[in-house]
Amino acid sequence: MKIIEDIYYKIIDKCSCSLIEVGGIIGGKNNIITEFEFDKGIGGGSKQHYFPDIEKFNSCIKNWQKENIEFYGIVHSHFQDTKELSFGDTLYIQEIMLAMPEYIRYLYFPIILPQKELVSFKVMRNEIEINIINDNVKIIMKGAKKSEKRNKTDSNKNPLRTLL
Ligand SMILES: [Zn+2]
Repeated sequence: MKIIEDIYYKIIDKCSCSLIEVGGIIGGKNNIITEFEFDKGIGGGSKQHYFPDIEKFNSCIKNWQKENIEFYGIVHSHFQDTKELSFGDTLYIQEIMLAMPEYIRYLYFPIILPQKELVSFKVMRNEIEINIINDNVKIIMKGAKKSEKRNKTDSNKNPLRTLL
């Protein structure tokens, strides 16, 4: 998953200001996440589970469509540093994938560890099955091209450390 830096930190910040599990939807263009709509859910304060506000999501997705922003998935926070999707999460993900229009072949379902990081899962489907795979997160920084070049030169200069 490719995500612009500002949005990456916005998601972690927003999902860290709550004592209950929360979430939101992500969208973007050209397979890069550029948008995030926070959602505190409709669970009525259950600490264990985040229940997305589907109506809110649908209206947001419609607004995005007007600006040619594609829907790319749903994030939710986990407490206690659980980096894996729960059984309930996987059931819910399958439900969502089946409810999606056919042209959507994959979505992302990242978990947010409050104040720490975003752990991404990519969910792909074909005619037969739905697969959930661990996904690398690539944060796109502003002026990335320049800093990439610089990093390369720097690492070339660093001599390899030899273990004795
Ligand atoms: Zn979960």
